[in-house]
Amino acid sequence: MSAEIELHALNAMSDVVGSEHVRRDSESCRYFSSDLFFEPPVLPIAVVSPATRDDVVRIVQIASNENVSIVPRGGGLSYTGGYLSQGPRCIILDTTRLTRIIEINDDDQYVTVEAGVTWQMLDEVVAQHGLRVPHFGPATGRVSTIGGGLSQNTVLFGSAQYGSAADHVLSLEVALADGSRVKTGSGAIRGGEPFFRYHGPDLTGLFLGDCGALGVKLSATLQLMPRPPSIDFASFAFPTFEAMIAAETEIGRSRLATDLLGAGNYVPPDGDAAEAKPAMHLVVEGYSARDVSERLDRLRQIAGHQGKEVEPTVPRFLRDRPFNFLTSLLSDDGRMQAWTHGIVPFSQALHVFGAITAFFNAKAALIARCCIDITISTGVMGRGVLLEPVIRWRDQPRAIHLGGLGGAPEAWAGTPDEAATTAAMQLRRGLRDLFRRECAAHLQIGKFYAYRDGLTEETDDMVRRLKHALDPQGRMNPGALGLG
Ligand SMILES: Cc1cc2nc3c(=O)[nH]c(=O)nc-3n(C[C@H](O)[C@H](O)[C@H](O)COP(=O)(O)OP(=O)(O)OC[C@H]3O[C@@H](n4cnc5c(N)ncnc54)[C@H](O)[C@@H]3O)c2cc1C
Repeated sequence: MSAEIELHALNAMSDVVGSEHVRRDSESCRYFSSDLFFEPPVLPIAVVSPATRDDVVRIVQIASNENVSIVPRGGGLSYTGGYLSQGPRCIILDTTRLTRIIEINDDDQYVTVEAGVTWQMLDEVVAQHGLRVPHFGPATGRVSTIGGGLSQNTVLFGSAQYGSAADHVLSLEVALADGSRVKTGSGAIRGGEPFFRYHGPDLTGLFLGDCGALGVKLSATLQLMPRPPSIDFASFAFPTFEAMIAAETEIGRSRLATDLLGAGNYVPPDGDAAEAKPAMHLVVEGYSARDVSERLDRLRQIAGHQGKEVEPTVPRFLRDRPFNFLTSLLSDDGRMQAWTHGIVPFSQALHVFGAITAFFNAKAALIARCCIDITISTGVMGRGVLLEPVIRWRDQPRAIHLGGLGGAPEAWAGTPDEAATTAAMQLRRGLRDLFRRECAAHLQIGKFYAYRDGLTEETDDMVRRLKHALDPQGRMNPGALGLG
């Protein structure tokens, strides 16, 4: 009976998008529902790839009528189980064919795009108008989509000054679980334009960072600003992480840097502290060379207390080809790498860094035994500091690497080490729990980071009721944000 219902639903979906865009083979189903670190508990019944927003709505309506769950997927480069299929009858809704630029409005400075447009495509198109989205994408912007980025919030380029992706959204168009289609912001006014986010309660915000648990984003309107005409770079080496983080928080509060990233090596208690080599990299944008130079003067004063200025090769490289620097998901020496982050207030950054170091120190023997290397990345993202240990170990390629982002097979380092894989995942879970204890906020919560169990009881209850109101059968990305 169940197989008959599935077939009926998939045939109806094939009628909408064409049978070649309803993939049922297990290889596709596994590839599209597994991320870098997680395999789905149950394979989806199909991967459905609509080409238009109307078709997405029709697919959601069919799913609603046929009791099928929907897991939206963009570029597939999140790694917290966000698009893992869950539940007995589920499809992956692949949004990568939704690539229309709907409107670039120079006068009112906004752009409306379909959810499957990549950050790179968006930036290239608005650059032709001399414009930019203030935070213009994550490192994976060559592949990652606007829909994916807004569903879990992204940071990186422009984030020290302008914040995260969610900070620049004016309006959304979303398909809800029952197949209805809603708009938010001033775009929801009958006959209105999507130029302003706040018209009554912030309904746009409801869907940002929802990991697809509340609906499928069809299109988004983002703010634009003039492309800053001047840019310069600076990098500083610090004697300790603590000195670097102190400078980062002061610079974050000053709002003078456009991008701020730092990184250094974790060194165990019996190691050579000089090997930590923390270094901070700044990108500074402004309206004239003089504006940039004055900002840099002040930043040099702050960083120069304990930092030594070095050649800014890293920030130049990052901005030279922002989305192309990421050619492989592997580390430079061909190993698997896993990122686990938390965002904390400026005032807590040093304390939480201390907790991370203490956590690794307590696991130093395991880390050494499994030949695991760890770097700790830091960065200012609007109103907070992102702390992100990166764990590297020998492992074997996953489907997503073999799908084109793993570099050449010979790039893979040595024989996979099962014990190291187990240890790396254990460290990752430990970090997640540490960030929970430290009350950190997260991007890409997906099905990995703590969300509901960290909320106050009343807020959790409201979130659960909101989900129930929008998706009473729990068919929209079951499990995301810990919601059924
Ligand atoms: C090497 C590497 C570097 C990275 N660098 C960064 C970085 O610089 N900054 C950063 O923030 N992140 C970074 N990430 C994480 C990730 O790439 C980004 O968060 C990215 O925005 C994910 O977008 P995506 O299109 O790949 O989304 P996906 O992984 O496909 O999906 C993400 C989530 O959004 C949901 N979703 C996708 N599309 C929709 C839609 N249309 N409607 C509703 N829900 C949807 C999915 O169900 C899932 O829960 C990095 C990852 C890797 C592997």
